[in-house]
Amino acid sequence: MSQPTTATAPPGPPPVFARRIAGVASSPVRELLALIARPGVISFAGGLPAPELFDLPGLRDAFATALSDDAGRRSLQYAPTEGNHELRELVAARLTDRELPTAPEHLLVTTGSQQALTLVATALLDPGAVVAVEEPTYLAALQSFQLAGARIVPVAGDRDGILPDALAAVIRRERPTLLYLVPTFANPTGRTLTAPRRRAVAELAEAHGLWVVEDDPYGELRYAGQRLTPLAAEPAAAGRVVYLGSFSKVGAPGLRLGWLRAPADLLARLTVVKQAADLHTSTVDQAAAAAYLRTHDLNAHIETLRTEYRRRRDAMTAALPRVLPPGSEWSEPDGGMFVWVRLPGAVDAAALLPVALSHEVAFVPGAPFYAAEPDPATLRLSFTAHTPGEITEGMRRLSRVFAGV
Ligand code: PMP
Repeated sequence: MSQPTTATAPPGPPPVFARRIAGVASSPVRELLALIARPGVISFAGGLPAPELFDLPGLRDAFATALSDDAGRRSLQYAPTEGNHELRELVAARLTDRELPTAPEHLLVTTGSQQALTLVATALLDPGAVVAVEEPTYLAALQSFQLAGARIVPVAGDRDGILPDALAAVIRRERPTLLYLVPTFANPTGRTLTAPRRRAVAELAEAHGLWVVEDDPYGELRYAGQRLTPLAAEPAAAGRVVYLGSFSKVGAPGLRLGWLRAPADLLARLTVVKQAADLHTSTVDQAAAAAYLRTHDLNAHIETLRTEYRRRRDAMTAALPRVLPPGSEWSEPDGGMFVWVRLPGAVDAAALLPVALSHEVAFVPGAPFYAAEPDPATLRLSFTAHTPGEITEGMRRLSRVFAGV
């Protein structure tokens, strides 16, 4: 296709964009994914679930049920904003089983949990509002808060998640409206907030009237250790926490199905925001997800994922001591999809990425995950999308990349 050309500047004033879009960059991770999507590259960059583990026959059945003679005409119609009632019943039962007592009326089905982040940002953040985040944190959550015009303030943490004392200091100094956390197997660090810290965060939220967003797409992908109760179940935080869940990592991300659980007054407002955003999430996808949960054993499928992803995590963490330069540090996550690495000294991980690509291997530099002061020596490795054999080969390629460091 030929490029449009303009010989002279068009008449009239230049196009103007809303202030909120200025300074919100396209996600470097999504751009990187486009760049490396070529055969032969072993990519540890994207947080992609393994496609060969999607339950294709089960989902095909579920869509056939959703589009059957009986149900199909309902599944193709407009539907209430709150979401498919049966799906909300089934999700509520799963959350209740995981120690988060939930009724269908507490839930709003969303178009992925990414939409939940946008809805929450729209309903809770005025321009200039302060959002506290663990540092580093999920990049596209930062984008949602930036689009709402919020100011993002980092809270220091360690390998057990944010430090309650650091949060208390940020609350005193910055008066945040909202705290955003991925308390279990965080993206990008793989870290998990311990039970005592969950309690301390809940108590701080209650004492200071802070909203907490508990983003939990990875909680069910546990490979070691004991399950922790969600922060949303802490009695102190009952009216303060918005809990986000997703089918993306345990089902399939292409479905774009998530849900949020929020206190009643906030849920009503989030429902209005969703009406304005997209009326409702795809009726047929919701009907298929409900049919899937009714007729298939999602827990058994998750068990399959856990067994395989554990092997993949182990293949990666076993290779790391040989691959990374001396003095590197890395996380050994109990679940989720990510290993977080810090290279020694003043190494710039972004500068190593082109070298990695020339060796047909990829990672994500860590800097974009920071709200404030990036640490250029960090990077994220995802272990879910390749077999243990491919991971071992990818790590061999990475060792050549790091050999010169
Ligand atoms: N939150 C976190 C922490 C994530 O890592 C992701 C996906 N990478 C999302 C939300 C968005 O997930 P979904 O596919 O449900 O929109």
